Amino acid sequence: MPRLSEVITALENLWPAERAESWDAVGTVVGDPDQEVSRVLFAVDPVQEIVDEAVKLGADLLVTHHPLYLRGTTTVAASTFKGRVVHTLIKNDIALHVAHTNADTADPGVSDALAGALDLRVVRPLVPDATDPDGRRGLGRVCELDHPLTVRELAARAAERLPATAQGIRVAGDPEATVRTIAVSGGSGDSLFDQVRAAGVDAFLTADLRHHPAAEFTAAVAPRPLALLDAAHWATEWPWCELAAAQLDEISDRKGWDLRVHVSKTVTDPWTAHAASTTTDTSGAPN
Ligand SMILES: [Zn+2]
Repeated sequence: MPRLSEVITALENLWPAERAESWDAVGTVVGDPDQEVSRVLFAVDPVQEIVDEAVKLGADLLVTHHPLYLRGTTTVAASTFKGRVVHTLIKNDIALHVAHTNADTADPGVSDALAGALDLRVVRPLVPDATDPDGRRGLGRVCELDHPLTVRELAARAAERLPATAQGIRVAGDPEATVRTIAVSGGSGDSLFDQVRAAGVDAFLTADLRHHPAAEFTAAVAPRPLALLDAAHWATEWPWCELAAAQLDEISDRKGWDLRVHVSKTVTDPWTAHAASTTTDTSGAPN
């Protein structure tokens, strides 16, 4: 059985901490390097529900995409929700390791997993990492479809292939427009509009899009309009958990570790319900 320090070294090789953004908080949050590891759980969010799942599973290590603490703290008291997470982890001898923006830009990374879930062929990073001589690392991915689809068909594919959430997929732009090329970025893609425009793609799939940027993006683009597909943040990043688990599985096999690697299927997207409009009257006046 490997020690935590050995497993962490393997994870750090996949997602080196120095490749994370300067504002990010990645790496090991909780854990004794000498502790033995036999069971690992991957999840998007280090929330109590997931930690409880790790306890039930008998996991020794929880690997999440989102950090527990992004800024400094002066308390891990169990009366706070993050402090309770820390207490539960330590009491149950479960380590927590975070791979966030260093997993976003990795090769393969979060957006490769998202593209893979939709059967998109990755062509290149949307925002290449200048330090990668192979030009494969970076934020987001520019992808091609095997066969052109309408935006509506592509949204249906995303709704079918990504894990189910209350939000589903929202579309901005012409649902009947044809998509041959698409940029994808797991998580919040609001800041990538300029790069998507420059990439010359037909559509952009990401999460957390807002009214004004979305309206400007779909209306004011030359030479042709682009469509937006907005999925739940959690759903766009969850495919990475499966990819990452498979990567650790492969390492475990190679090193003869015999790790049991699991992926949480618990939906931790904060949005829990969605009421579709029941009237086509958009005048705002009650019927
Ligand atoms: Zn995220």
